[in-house]
Amino acid sequence: EKLNVVILFGGKSGEHDVSLESAASVYRAIDKDKYNIHTIGIAKNGKWAYCSCGPDEIQSGKWVEHEVEGSKINFIPSQKGSVGIELNDGSLVPVDVCFPVLHGPRGEDGTIQGLFEMAEIPYVGCKVLASSLAMDKIMFKKIMDFEGVPQVDYVYTTRFEFSDDPQGFADIAEERLRYPMFTKPANMGSSVGISKVGSRAELIEGVKNALEYDSKVVVEQGIRAREIEVAVLGNSEVEASVAGEIIPCKDFYDYEAKYLANESKTLIPAGIDKELENTIREMAIKAFKAIDGSGISRIDFFVEHESGTVYLNEINTMPGFTKISMYPKLWEATGVGYRELIDKLIKLAMEK
Ligand code: ADP
Ligand code: MG
Ligand code: MG
Repeated sequence: EKLNVVILFGGKSGEHDVSLESAASVYRAIDKDKYNIHTIGIAKNGKWAYCSCGPDEIQSGKWVEHEVEGSKINFIPSQKGSVGIELNDGSLVPVDVCFPVLHGPRGEDGTIQGLFEMAEIPYVGCKVLASSLAMDKIMFKKIMDFEGVPQVDYVYTTRFEFSDDPQGFADIAEERLRYPMFTKPANMGSSVGISKVGSRAELIEGVKNALEYDSKVVVEQGIRAREIEVAVLGNSEVEASVAGEIIPCKDFYDYEAKYLANESKTLIPAGIDKELENTIREMAIKAFKAIDGSGISRIDFFVEHESGTVYLNEINTMPGFTKISMYPKLWEATGVGYRELIDKLIKLAMEK
């Protein structure tokens, strides 16, 4: 008896195209002897479509032309046994598990996870609370402070407070932090809306820019640091991969350095000594458990150049998942191949 797996991809967020790449990769690698694969795409305008397509159509964006006309996606149970995909002949494909290969707001922020909870469909990855905590940089920092996990200093503001008194907020930031600082929208990813600022005028500009993406903004102490990442896997029993390192091709790892320039490098294992690596792996597991994470996450750290101090940067609950993305590569280097990794994630989804 094969499990019916839905690969869900696309989405309205700025990370739509990244999602297509990841989903095509999952489709190519997933064990077709074990699973029936169904594909549901979310277009950039937010429209959902059940489509009959393969990985090439997903990757190229042509999947929209392969929508199965007349089919309906019934994810909210109106009556018992009605959850799944209803085909045009009226028959129902039950969905056993969903793999939401979606990034950013409305993908890894708990909203779609809430939909799966309502429909009682098992799904890969973190649940509602962990997803939204990891997505909101301010709430995330508060939890990590509470847990005693080291982070760079920060201050934050809201659209309402800031527009009332921008100079007052700049005073508070300058009292707490030194330039350069980083201004970030609280809820975003892929470095969208983030600026490195070197003066008061730039700070105010950076906060204004971040406010275009969210009503809350965090301002962080900018540091010179190596960027170290760890992959975690598990529900109640959590394992951490070897650590990897990002070597951005630009001043910082912005959107262009991540996806466009194609010249940023990754180093696996990271160029740090074993003792430090183990400390970081333990911190990764601690942070993941602190938000009550499940399944998958990539935990990102800074190791400051001058001092060697380790700071937690963030948790990404649905990290890039192409075969050559950091998360799968970290597991590959730890001894878990890509296909096996997908298997484990589906198993963890069913157990959660
Ligand atoms: P996102 O969730 O969009 O990936 P991050 O908080 O990871 O946002 O920031 C994106 C990148 O900006 C980081 O990978 C790093 O290169 C740089 N960066 C962010 N915060 C700092 C900081 N406090 N000091 C130095 N560099 C930073
Ligand atoms: Mg992020
Ligand atoms: Mg990041």
